Amino acid sequence: MKYEREFILPLTGTALGPKQYGFELGDEFLAFSQFPEANTGKVHLDLIVDKHPAFLTLQFVFDGWLRLNCDRCAEDYDQQVNGSFRYILKYGDHIEEESEEVMLIPADLHEFDVFQLVYEYLMLLIPLRKVHLPDEQGNATCNPETIALLERFKPAEEPDPRWGALQSLIDPSND
Ligand SMILES: [Zn+2]
Repeated sequence: MKYEREFILPLTGTALGPKQYGFELGDEFLAFSQFPEANTGKVHLDLIVDKHPAFLTLQFVFDGWLRLNCDRCAEDYDQQVNGSFRYILKYGDHIEEESEEVMLIPADLHEFDVFQLVYEYLMLLIPLRKVHLPDEQGNATCNPETIALLERFKPAEEPDPRWGALQSLIDPSND
């Protein structure tokens, strides 16, 4: 598939030193990778591959936004995503993942597919808590109608009386 080929880096026949690649991770990437958190966004990825005699460093720099679903009001919002990651390909005599950041590869390996790394790094850039950011005045920007509804249907604070009954059954002081 053509789109998948874009993420395959040539390793042999390239000069020593840095070489920069650019990728646009948009709706096509999100659909193709079946990205679970978003189906719309625009993230630019710079990948700098620095080739040394015994290893290569891959520097991934992400900058853009993804449309996520707010945990608080359940509406979509645009989340800024940016960050960078480093991965090292070390020449050896076989392929082996040494750690999360280092992979051993045979020196004559022709190409290396970064698609899975790009996907995993983008997932890591999704914040644990996905919520609308406050505006410049510090006011919440969640949908006020949804928030009002949530407040109205929030479970009452008082404990469920059934818990009390259960508690007395397991309370050792009861026998
Ligand atoms: Zn929200």
